[in-house]
Amino acid sequence: MKWISDFIDFILPRHCAVCGEVLSRGEQEICLNCLLALPLIDDAHCAEIEKLFWGIVPVERVASYFYYRKGSPYINLLHRLKYKNRPQIGVLLAKNAATELLPKGFFDGVELIIPLPLSKKKERSRGYNQCDYIAEGISQVTGIPIGRGCVARTKANETQTHKNREERWKNVEGIFTVFNPDAVRGKHVLLIDDVLTTGATIADCARALVAVGCRVTIFTLAYSSNTI
Ligand SMILES: [Zn+2]
Repeated sequence: MKWISDFIDFILPRHCAVCGEVLSRGEQEICLNCLLALPLIDDAHCAEIEKLFWGIVPVERVASYFYYRKGSPYINLLHRLKYKNRPQIGVLLAKNAATELLPKGFFDGVELIIPLPLSKKKERSRGYNQCDYIAEGISQVTGIPIGRGCVARTKANETQTHKNREERWKNVEGIFTVFNPDAVRGKHVLLIDDVLTTGATIADCARALVAVGCRVTIFTLAYSSNTI
């Protein structure tokens, strides 16, 4: 069947989400050069990111895979993942991230993966929740099951874009509900989001899980910062 994919590539060439070059056979969404140059977040930076949650919610561990700054071409990966109907990017990148994190013991003791839920309205208009795909990639590498439907966003929050840090915290407080708390009580869960910025939304979801007796580790695909 290789000739079919070669033929499709010939008439409809696929392009790297980052640099725009034509992808060769075997490359998906991102070319090898851009993948090798992905600005990874090392352990020291993860420790810095973890500080966002200090005094807000107790978390076991925090990791983000790569970072981007305003204007970085790597932001295109996230645009495709979220807005361009290319959720498979989430699986691909999460598998790479999990392969790096697994030998470091990042997933030790984690029993359940919980993708951060979107509001029903947003999921309907997008057609999918990108966090489900990131969770899928992590699960494929680690074998940890995914707990879909454990948590729901029961209150829609306003857009966060033009709010300062303090306003963002106020804006997201209490928007998540844990359904069937008995099913997750006492479990160590891995909470997944696509991008970490202030951490306010994911911290709010973590708080809801901690309140029903979970221990929470956090993973996001990307971290948006101008400081690291
Ligand atoms: Zn590229």
